[in-house]
Order: sequence, then structure tokens, then C-alpha cells
Amino acid sequence: MEEMKLTVIGSGDAFNGAGRGHSCYWIEGLAERPLMVDFGATALMGLGRAGMDPLRLGGIAVTHLHGDHVGGLPFLLIDGIFRRPRHEDLALIGPQPLEERLDALHRAHYGDLIDRKRSFEFACREIRAGEETDFLGAGLRAWPAEHMDPPDEALILAFTSSRGKRIVFTGDSAMTKDLLDAARGADLLVAECSGLAHPAGRHCTWEDWLEVLPGLDAGQVLLSHLSAELRAALPRLKSEIPPGVRLRFADDLETLRIP
Ligand SMILES: [Zn+2]
Repeated sequence: MEEMKLTVIGSGDAFNGAGRGHSCYWIEGLAERPLMVDFGATALMGLGRAGMDPLRLGGIAVTHLHGDHVGGLPFLLIDGIFRRPRHEDLALIGPQPLEERLDALHRAHYGDLIDRKRSFEFACREIRAGEETDFLGAGLRAWPAEHMDPPDEALILAFTSSRGKRIVFTGDSAMTKDLLDAARGADLLVAECSGLAHPAGRHCTWEDWLEVLPGLDAGQVLLSHLSAELRAALPRLKSEIPPGVRLRFADDLETLRIP
């Protein structure tokens, strides 16, 4: 299989901090087909800017059901119907209640369009924290994220490629033992960092990361979901990265290779 490559389609927080897209990623060489993690409201615009054709996508894995992580799916639906006709199903996997929430999202945006006959479906599959499955030929394990209240469940998604490379997405989560356990041994950890310090709600901050980075066993760390405040402080933050830690701050449209 080809080398694994991650393209940042969006690196901003829910508020499109510093004019960046909602955080989501396009990954090649992980599964049998290109896949994405999350698809927020600005995702289709981001794909256009990155020159990525959504018809190449085999599927999308969703960390949680907030609008900055799934709000772009109605636009992907109409793109696949009217603009770039899609003739194969698109696999979707994510936490409960994925199918019900997507139905409501599509109806809120485009009424009964979702009931009309079309040439593809979103083939939805729910995954719970603690479960392991196969997604488009890649291994996928879900861990609990600390971010939402029941019945919603936010997930940390850990993928393993057929070559044994691990790439872990924290989605949105406070810093927890589960998050650190999920990150252990990752070749690439794509993690959220929504603010400089608490209070920041159920999110990770730069102060949280400074505390755990020295003991984190991950090959590379990409911090994303960045607020405007955090991006404005990047020159200082870069000087504070602990020695020996391979860490980057994400920006829209950049590509990382995982050797
Ligand atoms: Zn969220």
C-alpha cells in the first residue's frame, strides 16, 4: 500500500477561529480508499480549496455529532445528487444516534429531498466506545471522549492501517486517561487544542498538553481545532514545545506524510 498522507481540510474550532475551516481531515494510504475524519459545515468548501474530489472518498468517520464535525453532510448530499453525481454508497461510521441525527440534519436543510430516489446512500454504521471494527479495510477502535452528555456520545477514533501504522484522532475531548491511553504508540496523534488555558469547557488546552507531552508515546503530534486566540499566540507556543517532542500546529490545506 502507498505511503500514508493526511491533508488538513480544516484546522479551526467551532467558531472558524482565525478564518480557518472546521477541523476535518482527508487521509490516503490508511484504508482501501481515501477517507475523511469529520465533515463540518465548511468541509465541502475546504475540499474545493484543497482540490480534492469527493467522489474519490470511500467513507467518512465521525468523532461526534456537533455541527462543526457533521454539519457539512447535507451539502455533500446535494453535491452528490446535483453537481458531481455519485453512483456508489458512501460509508459513514460514528457514534449514536448517527443515522437519526443525519436524517434530521438533511431534513432541516433540504426538506424531503432525502426521501427521493437517488443513485447513492449514506451507508451509516454506529460504533460505541470500546468497540473495534473494520472500516474500509483499516482497523478502527473507538475510545470514549469527555465532551458530550447522553444520549450523545463523543469518540476518540484510533485507526490501524494494513501496514500497522496507527493514527489517532481525539475529536473534541477534555484531557482524560482514556485519551492518553488511546494516544499511546500512535505514529500520528491528531489532537484538539481549543484554547490556551481553562476554562475551555470539555476541551483540551495548551496548558493540558504541556503537562502530558513529555510522557506521551506518539511519533508525531498534530494539534488542531485551534481557536483564534491560540493561533495568535503560536510564536510563543512553538518556543514552549518540550525538547524531543515532534509537534506541529495544524493549518488548513497542509499535508503530513507518515513514513
Ligand atoms: Zn464538539
